[in-house]
Order: sequence, then C-alpha cells, then structure tokens
Amino acid sequence: MLHGPRKGKRVLRIDLTHADTEPQEFDERPVVPPAAGGEDVVSVAPVELSGRVERAGRGYLLEGRVAGSARLRCGRCLAEFDFSFAEPIELHLLPLAAAPQDDETRLGRHELEVRYYAEPSVDLVELAAEQFALVVPMKPLCAEECRGFCARCGANLNLGACSCPPQSTDVRFAPLAGWRPDE
Ligand SMILES: [Zn+2]
Ligand SMILES: [Zn+2]
Repeated sequence: MLHGPRKGKRVLRIDLTHADTEPQEFDERPVVPPAAGGEDVVSVAPVELSGRVERAGRGYLLEGRVAGSARLRCGRCLAEFDFSFAEPIELHLLPLAAAPQDDETRLGRHELEVRYYAEPSVDLVELAAEQFALVVPMKPLCAEECRGFCARCGANLNLGACSCPPQSTDVRFAPLAGWRPDE
C-alpha cells in the first residue's frame, strides 16, 4: 500500500500484511449501490462494517459484523418497507496459491466461507456489497402474511377482499393466469 491508516481519512481497503504483526481492526460505513442487493432494493443506508483481521495459518481470518437498513419493495404487493439487518461475518482468507485445483473442492470450500486472494488486501466496499447481497431476501415480503394482488382482477388484497368468486386452492397455475397464447 502507498499509505497506511491516517486520522480523518476513510480507509476502505485493508492491507492484510498489516495483520502479520498484529490484528487489524476496522469500523467503516461503506456506501453500496442499491442494485448490489437486487432489483427489489429501493435504497440502502451506508452499511456498517466492523471487525478485525488476524493472521491464521497460511492466510488470515476476518471476523466481524455487517449491519444496516434498507428500503425494499415487497415481491407480492409492491409496497415499500424498511428492512434492518445485523449478521456476523467470518471469512477465511487464503492466498490464491493455496486454492484447490479441482472445481468440486473449490465449491465445497466456498460454502465454508473461504476466499482466495491474488493481492493481500480486502476492499471493504466490495465486502459490504457482497454481505448486503447475502442478507437481502430473494423475494422480500412486507409481511409474511402479505396477500398480494388478486390474480384475476389485480386488486390489492391487503386492502380487503375483491369481488372475484372464490378460487380453487391450487396456486400452481397462478403465474399463468394472465397468459394468452400468441395468435
Ligand atoms: Zn406485501
Ligand atoms: Zn379479484
């Protein structure tokens, strides 16, 4: 690195070699783009990213916490709602030279939160974006019991029942409700 941590300057990249002598602590608020969490993210506050990096085996161990809040769009009724998160992070960082050669082993390692690095550094903006992507639900719901829209008339069922006749309970074909073959 060209320069180390300085007072008053935000250091958003950790030089891992600094942890060779003593654990390095970090506590930052990286700004990540809403799209990092997927298309249902309307906005996201700066992500709180804190923890420490220490030397471990052939590489480093990063332990910490990711927390923050975002505004999401409900996958059923499209209403926006606030979403808060706070999750622990534990990453084992190993030099690329230590990576297993066959893909199967590599996939297995990934599940154990092992990351391989070409350069001994961690970009905290990238880490914040990646961790944010992990905490945002695949299909955000404003409430577990959100009723969404009626597949027939499009009414928002959270506002009350529509006047459609009761439907069969088989929802497997619901996604096809508005589908018509091309003529
Ligand atoms: Zn909803
Ligand atoms: Zn209806």
